[in-house]
Amino acid sequence: MEKKQFKAESQRLMDLMINSIYTHKEIFLREIISNASDAIDKLAYRALTDEKVGLNREDFKIVVVPDKEARTLTVADNGIGMTQEEMENNLGTIAKSGSLQFKKETENADDAELDIIGQFGVGFYSAFMVADKVTVISKAYGGETAWKWESEGVDGYTIEPCQKDTVGTDVIMSIKANTEEENYDEYLAPYSLSNLIKKYSDYIRYPIRMEMEHSRQKPKPEDAGEDYKPEYEQVKEWETINSMVPIWQRPKSQVTKEEYNDFYKSKFGDWQDPILSIHVAAEGNFEYKALLYVPGQVPMNYFSTDFKKGLQLYSSGVMIMDKCPDLLPDHFSFVQGIVDTPDVSLNISREMLQHDRQLKVIANNIEKKIKSELVKLMKDDREKYQQFWTAFGMQFKYALMNAYGQNRDTIRDLLLFWSSKENKLTSLKEYVDRMPESQEKIYYVCADSVEHASKMPQAERVLKAGYEVLYLTVDEDEIVLQMLENAYDKPFVSVASEDALPVTDAEKASVEQAEKDHKALLDFAQETLKGEVSKVRISKILQSGAVCLTAEGPVSLEMEKYFRKMRR
Ligand code: ADP
Ligand code: MG
Repeated sequence: MEKKQFKAESQRLMDLMINSIYTHKEIFLREIISNASDAIDKLAYRALTDEKVGLNREDFKIVVVPDKEARTLTVADNGIGMTQEEMENNLGTIAKSGSLQFKKETENADDAELDIIGQFGVGFYSAFMVADKVTVISKAYGGETAWKWESEGVDGYTIEPCQKDTVGTDVIMSIKANTEEENYDEYLAPYSLSNLIKKYSDYIRYPIRMEMEHSRQKPKPEDAGEDYKPEYEQVKEWETINSMVPIWQRPKSQVTKEEYNDFYKSKFGDWQDPILSIHVAAEGNFEYKALLYVPGQVPMNYFSTDFKKGLQLYSSGVMIMDKCPDLLPDHFSFVQGIVDTPDVSLNISREMLQHDRQLKVIANNIEKKIKSELVKLMKDDREKYQQFWTAFGMQFKYALMNAYGQNRDTIRDLLLFWSSKENKLTSLKEYVDRMPESQEKIYYVCADSVEHASKMPQAERVLKAGYEVLYLTVDEDEIVLQMLENAYDKPFVSVASEDALPVTDAEKASVEQAEKDHKALLDFAQETLKGEVSKVRISKILQSGAVCLTAEGPVSLEMEKYFRKMRR
């Protein structure tokens, strides 16, 4: 039989698959199953208008058959099937693959390869990561004969007519022999296959059926004696492996808090309930469902470099990316969850995903939603919010600094600071709402603890005037305020600043007089502290305190300390 050649591009991709060193070869199953599901989608759609199809929605299924002896794994569907021509065109070319284009444009091909395979899969060809031969037997809906397509890799493929009674497609993969690096046998074992199906294809809307083997206790014989020991037997049973209906596709009113929490814990491997579950069902121009969680504790690797932010991205029930970073801004990097939208293509590359307008709109909406839910939590359940703040508050500050304040409008409303008001944490909004009419600025003092802050001599004057003072106890806090620029149109000012409060002419005169009266003392102090301080002067900010240190210029003492620490 004549062997046909693949087009050049397909050959490259196939070569890449066959020699793949990629460690997540298991995703081939997701690709093959999603093709089966697509094919069923097409026939199911036909069936809506074409009575001759003779199938109802319940009749559609995907069947997975591992055969240990023959070393084959078959994925069979009763979808629309392929004609000879379609086989030639669809399995012999790779024209529409966006990921391949991406690869061509990338300089560092090795990294790009891993990226492509890891994030998006490459469709049908990924079967060659685990199989040294792939056979496709298909009968198209309305077609006369069935066709068999077969390939052992880059050197080409054959097509010949064959026997198949029912419409649909069987993809038969001859699984490779085990190597030192890879245990291919697991692709022939029902148990590990069922795990893969649950992991990657749980939400495919058609049943994925597989024969599972169970150990079952034999019924106790009637004449069993005292010393009867239960006997077991192996039984085989066809099971639907996938759950078919993802929790985020169900109406909110029908999902209990328990179910949200359980799903979170099993899906994201946490043993604690999340602080917040957010379920979004958006309709209209941009249709998507999202299920988002704010964890109750900081993940182990959160502040290390191997932590990856992102939401799981599904397209019509098929997972296409495990952690899509573009769906989450850095200040919400702690959020875990899932986005499901019908309008993102399965094989879209990361580059293209980044520029996807649809995804940008979704990301924006999600950001707004997370923010409003957190603001609501702060108002309704302060204790819980403070638990959240203790865990993730620092992330807001880092993200604010990293973005040079560009995200200030989102973050401003979520920050908490210690305050002289009852020595409690306050939000900036609460502070501003409490300001008496005469107060124009938001006061702060820097110290290494709330206790010290409340005793800083610099703060006394402002507190005496009846104004609230924020206690900045974290090194970064003062920079955070600078990044915020202001809060609700009120500027921030350090209590140590000479013009923190308006100065009267009488005060000015009295300071000038004191400078003259005590010139000898000031000179003495200045001489004694030479090299330690740049200037000793009379200050109007002190009340009962005798002396304090302050910085001249725009950078406060605490900031200077902070930057010095950073330099080290
Ligand atoms: P994609 O799914 O993105 O189109 P694939 O490489 O996964 O790319 O599949 C290539 C094409 O092969 C599909 O578009 C489809 O036309 C055809 N195909 C693959 N598997 C099947 C199947 N089980 N039934 C019918 N057609 C299929
Ligand atoms: Mg596909």
